[in-house]
Amino acid sequence: MIVAKRAIYTIGRVQLTRTLSTRASTILSALDISTTEELSGVYDGQWRGSGDIFSSVCPTTGEILARVKSASPQELHDALARSREAYTLFRHVPAPRRGEILRQIREALSAKRDELGALVSLEMGKIRTEGVGEVQEFIDICDYAVGLSRMMNGNVVASERPGHSILEVPNPLGVVGVLSAFNFPVAVYGWNLALSLAAGNATIWKPSPSTPLCSIAVTRIVARVLESNGIPGAVAGLVTGGREAGAAIAESRDVELVSFTGSELVGRNVGKTVMSRFGKTILELGGNNASIVMPDADLSIAVPSVFFGAVGTAGQRCTSTRRLYLHRDIAPEFLDRLKKLYATIKPADPLVDGTLLGPLHTSAALKTYSDAIDHLRSIDADILTGGNRYTDAPLDAGNFVQPTIAIPKSVDPKAKIWSTETFAPILNAAVFDNIEEAIAWNNAVPQGLSSSLWSRDIRNLGKWIGPGGSDAGIVNVNVGTSGAEIGAAFGGNKSTGWGRESGGDAWKQYVRWSACTINFSDSAPLAQGVNFSI
Ligand code: NAD
Repeated sequence: MIVAKRAIYTIGRVQLTRTLSTRASTILSALDISTTEELSGVYDGQWRGSGDIFSSVCPTTGEILARVKSASPQELHDALARSREAYTLFRHVPAPRRGEILRQIREALSAKRDELGALVSLEMGKIRTEGVGEVQEFIDICDYAVGLSRMMNGNVVASERPGHSILEVPNPLGVVGVLSAFNFPVAVYGWNLALSLAAGNATIWKPSPSTPLCSIAVTRIVARVLESNGIPGAVAGLVTGGREAGAAIAESRDVELVSFTGSELVGRNVGKTVMSRFGKTILELGGNNASIVMPDADLSIAVPSVFFGAVGTAGQRCTSTRRLYLHRDIAPEFLDRLKKLYATIKPADPLVDGTLLGPLHTSAALKTYSDAIDHLRSIDADILTGGNRYTDAPLDAGNFVQPTIAIPKSVDPKAKIWSTETFAPILNAAVFDNIEEAIAWNNAVPQGLSSSLWSRDIRNLGKWIGPGGSDAGIVNVNVGTSGAEIGAAFGGNKSTGWGRESGGDAWKQYVRWSACTINFSDSAPLAQGVNFSI
């Protein structure tokens, strides 16, 4: 699978030799990412970086792909200042012109779609088709935002006072900080950048410290377009770094909106920090998503869709299916068919065509997985399949685990096994007797991201999408929990954070709204007939 080549690697003034697989060096070279030098991980119009060094580690092979120089505190401070300067210029660029710049970004991304998709696969560990799909999502949202740039309209409101008009005016908001998670190292930034840029803001991106290469490759593409249009590069700035850099952006009064994607734990802190200074947030946090299968469901589509939902991206999507509620009448057949699909899984290099199961992203995630399996065993859950790491070569070099189906004894949705998001391919199943019970279980957990019902009976659909139905932000019917399109607003309710990104009305969060009452008359009447005359 891997042919290693020796490379000279420079750390500071010291030169070291290391091996880098041709698999990795081919992908990095296709994106002009140096395979020998430390990389600058800060962009604010210039590339720089003199802070801590972060390693990008390949989850498939364990090899170090690159070392990245993150932002020092001073560089972060300066980058924020440059973002603000860039905003004060960029807000005056007419929106359709901003749309034209987005169109060029779309073209530039499209030209490198496959290369970037391969980099996502290499660095994050998802299979190549999903990596490419993620870049496609960025391209799609650019298309959407190009259209939006001519449609970010305000309102004219009828005034109760004669000779008056009220306008609701959207203006650019300011600086948007994007703090993103490891599992969508390109698309989440794309959703935010496209809307933020169309709205006339400057965006500063703090990606996951474990996916710096994806962020550098994307920022280079975007920066080239901005520079060729005479737009300051800090309109789309980048600061790689860890927790401290993220916290500094959350605290900065120079950042009007913090769009955070990540765990509930960190999101709770970020939310409080931003709220304490009355900043705006978009929080896209953890999911704990259920599929409910009714007896009339078409199992020929439900079974493979649940399979993809639970096993796709090795269970590392916020929308992954983690809970499976099966009607008693079809439960044995469904589980039997699902187990047969699980038995076909062949874990392998996610870059190789046909691979469906790649590794977990980090070695720390292996512990999350094995702790969850230990817990399942400790509560006497029936583990139908999976439950172990893959330990034979070459998989032992990466973070490969067996997708697992378990039937916990307790169906109490408040129990830890049902109420927490474990970011690994573990699917817990339970049997129900009527749809009301299944909907109650679906809704009883803290999270509210995605949910899906499998049924052909229109009465069930009414119950599912109506007032007493699923309380998640994504409520699907005969469609799995994962794999959203950009057209609808994406996000979850409850402890998932109530955030909405991408389509729908999400753009309205990236602007500052003004209600402007204009008096065209020769008198100055007060609203509600209030009389204040002398
Ligand atoms: P994480 O919370 O560990 O990290 C997310 C980001 O926050 C990273 O950039 C990290 O460096 C930064 N960060 C860490 N501590 C911080 C602090 N104190 N202040 C500010 N920033 C800080 O999440 P992760 O492990 O990278 O991603 C997995 C999680 O993300 C899962 O829970 C998953 O469900 C969630 N997720 C949600 C969505 C969604 O749209 N709802 C999408 C993708 C991922």
